[in-house]
Amino acid sequence: MNVTELARQLKITKVQLFDEIEKLGFDIGRRAIKIDDRQAKKIRTALEGKIKAKSTLVVEEEIEEKEVVEGKKIDLPDRIIIRDLAEKISMPVVELLGVLMKNGIMSSQNEEIDYETANIILEDLGYQVVLAKQEEAIHEEIQETSLKNLLAEEDSKKLITKPPVVVVLGHVDHGKTALLDAIRNTDVIGSESGGITQHIGAYQMVHNNKKITFVDTPGHAAFTKMRGRGAKVADIAILVIAADDGIKPQTEEAISIIKEAKIPFIVAINKVDKPDADIQKVKQQLTQNDLNPEEWGGKVICQEVSAKAKTGIKELLDIILLMADLEKANLLANPDREAVGCVIESHIDKGEGPVATVLINTGTLKVADLVTVGEVAGKVKALKDHTGQAVTQAEPAKPVRIIGLKGMPKVGDILHKIDDQKLLKKKLKEQHQEKMKVIKEQVQPAGQPSSKKKGTENLNILIKTDNLGSQEAIIGSLNKLRGPDVAINIVRKGLGNITGQDVIQADSTNSWLLGFHVNLTNEAQEVMLSRNFNRVKTFSIIYELIDEAKKNLTELIKPEIIRDDLGKIQVLALFRKAKNKIIIGGKVIKGKIFENSKFEVVRDKEIIGQGQLIKLQIAKREVKEITEGSECGLELKGFTDIEEGDKLTIYQEQEKARQLDS
Ligand code: GDP
Repeated sequence: MNVTELARQLKITKVQLFDEIEKLGFDIGRRAIKIDDRQAKKIRTALEGKIKAKSTLVVEEEIEEKEVVEGKKIDLPDRIIIRDLAEKISMPVVELLGVLMKNGIMSSQNEEIDYETANIILEDLGYQVVLAKQEEAIHEEIQETSLKNLLAEEDSKKLITKPPVVVVLGHVDHGKTALLDAIRNTDVIGSESGGITQHIGAYQMVHNNKKITFVDTPGHAAFTKMRGRGAKVADIAILVIAADDGIKPQTEEAISIIKEAKIPFIVAINKVDKPDADIQKVKQQLTQNDLNPEEWGGKVICQEVSAKAKTGIKELLDIILLMADLEKANLLANPDREAVGCVIESHIDKGEGPVATVLINTGTLKVADLVTVGEVAGKVKALKDHTGQAVTQAEPAKPVRIIGLKGMPKVGDILHKIDDQKLLKKKLKEQHQEKMKVIKEQVQPAGQPSSKKKGTENLNILIKTDNLGSQEAIIGSLNKLRGPDVAINIVRKGLGNITGQDVIQADSTNSWLLGFHVNLTNEAQEVMLSRNFNRVKTFSIIYELIDEAKKNLTELIKPEIIRDDLGKIQVLALFRKAKNKIIIGGKVIKGKIFENSKFEVVRDKEIIGQGQLIKLQIAKREVKEITEGSECGLELKGFTDIEEGDKLTIYQEQEKARQLDS
């Protein structure tokens, strides 16, 4: 714990705290920044009773706070390199190192300090320190406000009814993809014009001479993210439930997403062709979830379908059109204005560069429009519809691929057309600066420290590519890879073939050395052999490079520990204590306990130690489990400082594998 924090908790100044600590006989030094948590607790307990007469102290504290408030405000990230911090506060780095040294921190200019430490140092220097918002949070905030502003004012006279946008949700394997395929195949016009040749995350089809747009990315995550931004991506939902499986956890999740989105929906009871299909059971389960089917007097429309046998599909589409008709008032858009849309998919195409699939919310997007999409900008070079055909424009509810962006936007980012050349220039300038940063970093000397977030395991990567464009694209995609407590850290990016020096740097920084459209020099191969270093791979397809990074990053993810509390034991007697082991007598006062479970010792409502149950006995007989109410003997390993009257919480832990964020 920080000394400043403890002083705050005790409502005294740091100087007073040091005085009190000295009086109590603790030896932590007057320049200490942190105190061991256990020591801090003891100090707090000792001082809390003592510090009652606060009046004089409070006055001093007020003075101290006033000084801070008047100080210069400064935003700091959760970790910062000392050199960068010195630059930020315009202080010679040597001087800052001196200040750190005075506070007991010996470091070099390339080392990182955490926010808490920097905060203490800077507060002493008269700054008011604020933890800077994470880049991602800022991005989200900008996207949300920009969409709200863009859609705020509509000229009501120009509004027309747009085709409904339909999203398909449901439990995995219940047939979402199969249903979307079956729907696509009923589109005669679509198949006559060559069918859908490309997967672009959404498609538009015609049924009874009316257009319907389907978001073709089944998955709750993307839908929730876009909706979270206030973007009404879908107008109608189809909830797919397999008749042979019924309502499952993801179905329930989908139900709550639909309810929150407040959009109308149809239940498609799928797989009715299967012999074990039980339609009545699905309807019963729906009722239990407050979704009473129409035929049972409720409001929920259910349509039996078989995506496999292609039955019930036309009826399902009829219902969608009927619903769209009822929803008419909510399906309005103005095609005669600058386009606003939402990214539903984005990737880097080897030939076309960054490509984004956008669903137009309102307005019309045209070729040659200047647009900004999230943080990237560009001029629309070409538009392609879901069949891969080049089109000149996209109206509301039409999904299109945009080619011509300078970078890859994120799913859920908002596209809008801009007439303001100045804004576009500003965006392009920012992108250019980013590019320059890449070039600058290329000539940086080897061995830069890696920026590592607390508790995060980094996958270090050194990248060599043939040109800057592909390098940016690769780094853009790599930086999006994230998982629980793991992240990518680009140690260095460079152009040209992989050299011996690259291999040395990759080896010394424990990095992967990934090349794109580059070769290994003979020297590099020799160094690899001599150092027995084999974490070098070259690629000619970006996806494959990203997949390699994904694979390696996934291997770094630690499994999630799931704890299951089994029971509680009251300690009645202590029998024998050896090094690291203890035998006790106790009573199971709650639940049921098993051999080899873990225990936590609870005294005065606080957890004071942990260990493992190695043997269980009832009346001197060894047993595997003991039920509530029984008295027993227990052999414990680990924490042995147990006393009569302590309570033991008995639990088990299971490991569950985790994946990268999607
Ligand atoms: P998703 O995970 O919800 O997208 O499910 P899929 O569309 O991938 O389907 C999962 C499995 O169920 C696949 O093997 C499909 O062939 C099968 N399936 C989907 N719809 C039907 C159906 O109507 N009848 C039968 N018998 N199988 C189906």
